[in-house]
Amino acid sequence: MIAHVSKAFFQTLAASRGLKHLASRYGMRRPDSFARRFIAGETVEEAIAAALTLELSGLTQTLDMLGESVATMSEADAATRGYLALMDQIVAASIGRNISLKLTQLGLTVDRATCVDNLRRVLDRAAAGDFMVRIDMENSPYTQVTLEIFDTMWQQGYRNAGVVLQSYLPRSLPDAVRLIELGARIRLVKGAYNEPTGIAYQDKRDVDSAFVEIMKLLVAGANYPAIATHDPAMIAATREFAARRGIPPARYEYQMLYGVRRDLQARLVAEGYRVRVYVPFGREWFPYFMRRLGERPANVGFVLRGILRER
Ligand SMILES: Cc1cc2nc3c(=O)[nH]c(=O)nc-3n(C[C@H](O)[C@H](O)[C@H](O)COP(=O)(O)OP(=O)(O)OC[C@H]3O[C@@H](n4cnc5c(N)ncnc54)[C@H](O)[C@@H]3O)c2cc1C
Repeated sequence: MIAHVSKAFFQTLAASRGLKHLASRYGMRRPDSFARRFIAGETVEEAIAAALTLELSGLTQTLDMLGESVATMSEADAATRGYLALMDQIVAASIGRNISLKLTQLGLTVDRATCVDNLRRVLDRAAAGDFMVRIDMENSPYTQVTLEIFDTMWQQGYRNAGVVLQSYLPRSLPDAVRLIELGARIRLVKGAYNEPTGIAYQDKRDVDSAFVEIMKLLVAGANYPAIATHDPAMIAATREFAARRGIPPARYEYQMLYGVRRDLQARLVAEGYRVRVYVPFGREWFPYFMRRLGERPANVGFVLRGILRER
């Protein structure tokens, strides 16, 4: 219940222009500004520097150029070109070739066909450079269309794209069964958005038990699944299930967000598990940042201390 209220609360705040203006002014301006805890920086150079640091400590990474729900074709085109340029810079920097993107960033809410064209441009460049492209899952109005677009790409032979399933949606279990059969690469998460009753489980226990159920299907039978969580109970359930089935750690990976549970990330690597860190960067960091606050209201104290220190 508390988690639900706080997600709704932070979603409302995320729509506030005044707050966005204030946060944008203070959040990133110094190396120790508060938003830098969760966002690698506003430029590609800063993101690549963060990725290099992670790789030096044995982690892998996926870079996410922030931006979502663009309102015009030209913004969608700019985001697409941004991703094409990002891939060139990743190649030049010789870091791991893995990116994450959102379909609303490529124009899904403007025009579906244009969005598909933009995605194809990214996937073609990605295939040429041996990149993995993860299509993030957004809120529930986009679940079906995101999976349909993924299916279209799959039917057209693109194998370098993967999808995300959210355990708070009851539909994710049948979606997982179907996508596993296809051989698709799946990232499992709990789900970050404020969703209504009837569409998503509201009780954390239901979300967690669905997570474990889908995790078992993925670890037992999916193509290199990603178990994306910071929840020690979910991580323990995964390692125990894999060990019981004799599935080695190289057959799946854990994923965590930049700046969240860095202690756990390091510990898992030390124990021989694969851990990929999701590294967001870019000027449009505010909605992403607000979702992170909604997941853990204690983060607000950390932000307020940062703001007070900076003013
Ligand atoms: C790599 C990755 C990719 C993701 N992609 C998507 C996506 O495409 N679509 C989507 O809807 N969601 C995505 N998410 C977010 C996800 O849905 C959850 O909202 C988020 O991971 C928090 O859930 P949890 O599994 O960590 O468990 P929770 O039960 O929320 O948290 C467990 C513990 O983790 C720690 N923790 C969790 N969140 C935070 C935080 N923000 N700050 C500090 N500590 C925290 C706390 O210690 C908490 O007690 C992604 C998450 C990861 C790790």
